[in-house]
Amino acid sequence: MNSSKVRVRFAPSPTGPLHIGGVRTALYNYLFARQHGGDLIFRIEDTDSTRFVPGAEEYIIEAFHWLGIQFDEGVSFGGNYGPYRQSERKDIYKKYVGQLLQAGRAYIAFDTPEELKARRDEAEGAGQKFQYDASTRMQMRNSLTLGAEETQRLIDAGEPYVVRFLIQPGEDVHVDDIIRGDVVINSSVLDDKVLWKSADQLPTYHLANIVDDHLMEVTHVIRGEEWLPSAPLHVLLYRAFGWEDTMPRFAHLPLLLKPDGKGKLSKRDGDRLGFPVFPLEWHNPETGEVSSGYREQGYLPEAVVNFLALLGWNPGDDQELMSLQEMVQKFNLEKCSKNGARFDYVKGFWFNREYLLRRSDAEWAPAFVSLLAAQGITCSEERAAQVVELMKSKVIEYQTNDGPRKRNVSFVSDLWPLCRFFFVAPTSFNTEDKFIRKNWKEGTAAEMQQMLNLLATVDDFSAEGQKAVVDPWVEQTGIKPWNAWRVCLVGEGQGPDMYALSAFLGKEEVLRRMDFAIATLQ
Ligand code: GLU
Repeated sequence: MNSSKVRVRFAPSPTGPLHIGGVRTALYNYLFARQHGGDLIFRIEDTDSTRFVPGAEEYIIEAFHWLGIQFDEGVSFGGNYGPYRQSERKDIYKKYVGQLLQAGRAYIAFDTPEELKARRDEAEGAGQKFQYDASTRMQMRNSLTLGAEETQRLIDAGEPYVVRFLIQPGEDVHVDDIIRGDVVINSSVLDDKVLWKSADQLPTYHLANIVDDHLMEVTHVIRGEEWLPSAPLHVLLYRAFGWEDTMPRFAHLPLLLKPDGKGKLSKRDGDRLGFPVFPLEWHNPETGEVSSGYREQGYLPEAVVNFLALLGWNPGDDQELMSLQEMVQKFNLEKCSKNGARFDYVKGFWFNREYLLRRSDAEWAPAFVSLLAAQGITCSEERAAQVVELMKSKVIEYQTNDGPRKRNVSFVSDLWPLCRFFFVAPTSFNTEDKFIRKNWKEGTAAEMQQMLNLLATVDDFSAEGQKAVVDPWVEQTGIKPWNAWRVCLVGEGQGPDMYALSAFLGKEEVLRRMDFAIATLQ
């Protein structure tokens, strides 16, 4: 290693919104960097111009800003190893490709897409698979078969070409993976990967990735399992460059699996079951399609971070709720699982609830006030906080494409369907409703009228003030007014403690609602 300082990187390709699995990869890099007092680099791998999506880079930066994952250097953060956007490093890659060509570790190939397709079809016809490698390269149009002079002539004539990595067959390549141990692949299964293309003068992912990790003095490559098959090629590239002694250590993280554990987590799983797979809402600039995001769904960033941290790693004790600081202390790359981590989104609700409950009612209030405003209701933060206090421990029913489910209030937005009656008086009563049928009988209207008359005399309309007058009346008359009173104020059989609700609504509103119910239901 060039320096003893830990240096890790998160290196997304700006091809769209960042998948939640990518967020977890970045988080693990972050935890590892912080734990070792190292640096976290943000590099943009945008050498595939056909897959570039405008706005994706900004989206990724905003997502990490929201999540509180801070980078030390990279695109938009600065640093001494830049530029950090690969499209701005063309000359660097060209130089290193030249170096491989010079050393005979790579060669130039002129085969056109049509020629390659013909070879593939031919092989397929014979029930085989074509691979550009030691077994086929001497039958192709490349500098090895054409010779130096003809190669130069074709280049001078402007014929497009690619540079391919020359892989020696028959060698066991070892990848020393921190999570998976010694992973061995025989080089014969690898093809002579394209490293560079003359058409756009750009490298492919593999070359750019290795050159940059080397030049940026990256010490550990922590990335998703989908890159494990590329790792042997990367090892061979380090070797070909003569950089093997400073090669980073690898750690390939387990995949995120569908909630049922069967297969890789996809956006469709989220759409079906009602959870986002992106940190922020994403507006596809090409199709206009909108994909939901954790932020917009009302998740707290610390809940998302905590939830993700435990998908593939656990601290080995029973502690599930951890601050970022605690995670930094406890994180252990070696204890990451080799097996895929089931994306238990219901656990995500739980985390959000836990973090919401750690916030005061007043802290919930601004978001609740905005939600109410969207319903056309004006409410002060103080009153909103009172509703939060009364309703945050309730259960709600929510919809998924697999049918209705129940959960504890886990989002500020869960409050609205539970709290509508705090702000909107009943305008009708469903006489088919079981609760109403059971609790509104002959004579109930008269009892409610008595209670209305009594409440009209109460000056102190706090919960205590009402109780002081109503409880003795209940005692005296034996009337049990609670459920009928609930019908009057709520319109159905749900809601908080009646005195608390009544105090919140205030005398005028309470008398009005009772009057309306009596007139309508008698
Ligand atoms: N650009 C790659 C990606 O999009 C980076 C893979 C790696 O970390 O090497 O995931």
